[in-house]
Amino acid sequence: MKCKRCGEPAVINMRQHKLGLCGDHFTEWLISYTERAIEKYSMFERGDRLLLAVSGGKDSLALWDILLRLGYDVEALYIDLGIGDEQYSEQSKAKVERFAAGKEGAAYSVVNVKGTYGKSVLELAQEKRGRKVCSLCGLVKRHIMNRTAYEGGFTAVATGHNLDDEAAVLFQNALRWQTGYLARQAPVLPSTHPHLARKVKPFFRLYERETAAYAVVRGIDYIYDECPHSVGATTIFYKELLNQLEERSRGAKQQFYLSFLQARDKHGLFQQELAQLELGECEKCGQPTTAPTLCAFCRLWEVE
Ligand code: AMP
Ligand code: ZN
Ligand code: ZN
Repeated sequence: MKCKRCGEPAVINMRQHKLGLCGDHFTEWLISYTERAIEKYSMFERGDRLLLAVSGGKDSLALWDILLRLGYDVEALYIDLGIGDEQYSEQSKAKVERFAAGKEGAAYSVVNVKGTYGKSVLELAQEKRGRKVCSLCGLVKRHIMNRTAYEGGFTAVATGHNLDDEAAVLFQNALRWQTGYLARQAPVLPSTHPHLARKVKPFFRLYERETAAYAVVRGIDYIYDECPHSVGATTIFYKELLNQLEERSRGAKQQFYLSFLQARDKHGLFQQELAQLELGECEKCGQPTTAPTLCAFCRLWEVE
C-alpha cells in the first residue's frame, strides 16, 4: 500500500477514511484532524489555559505532543493513584517524566493520592470492601482533575479518550438504555458550575490504533500495559466486540458513535434528561455536589 499523498510506502491504512499514509503524512494528517476537532466543537482557544490529564499511556502523551506542537497553552497533570501494587503507578509516572524531560515547554504537576489524602487508591479499596478499584479510581481522578483545574484557574480539562473508548462506553450505556448517562456523553461537557471546568476530548474521532501509531511514529515511549485492575473489565470486552464489527463492516465503530452525536445535536436525542441538577458546594472541599453536605469524594475519607 502506498501513501495517498506522496506514493512512498504507507505505514497505516485507515479503512474507514479510505486513506493510507506514510509516516510523515500520517502525523501531519493526525495533527490537523485533531486541530479541526478542537475548532469545530469549540473545545478551547489559543488564549485558554488548558489542563491535560496524562496517564503515561499513548493517548494522553500523543495529545500532549500535539497540543504543544500546535502552540496551545497547556499544562499536564499526572495523578499518582498508587495502584497495581503501586508498581503500575510508578511505571506510568516514569513515562510522563521521561516525555517531559525530552520536550521543551512540557510543564506538569503530580498529585500523589497517598501523600495528599493519606491512602493510596489500592489501600482505600482494601478498606472499602465491596467497592471496585475502578470505580474508586474514577471518582478520585475526577475530583482531583476538577479541583486542580479550579485552583489553578484553568478554563478546560482535556483527556486522551479516543473513539474506541467513547464507543465502548456508548455501547455499555445503550445496552442498558441508561438515558441519563447517554445524555451526558459528549466530546465537550460545558461547565455547569463556577467551580467546574469544561471537559474536552480532542481525540474522540480517532481510533485507538491511530493514536498508537502516532506515538510509535513520533518515538513516544509510553506504558503499553492496561491498568492491572482493568483486566477483564467489561469495557475491554465491548472494545473487542466493536472491533469484530469493524472487521466485518468498515467504519462501523466510527458510525456508531458519530451518528449518536449527530442524533443528539440535530434532534435533541436524550436531551430532556438534562434537567438542571441542583448543585450545591461540598462543606469540606467546596467542589460542586448534589449531596447535601459532603461530596462523594470527601465521604470516602470519613471514618466509618
Ligand atoms: P483511561 O480511563 O485509563 O482510559 O484514561 C482515559 C484518560 O484519562 C487518559 O487519556 C488521561 O487523559 C486520563 N487519565 C487516566 N489516568 C490518569 C492519571 N493517573 N493521571 C492523570 N490523568 C489520567
Ligand atoms: Zn506520504
Ligand atoms: Zn468534597
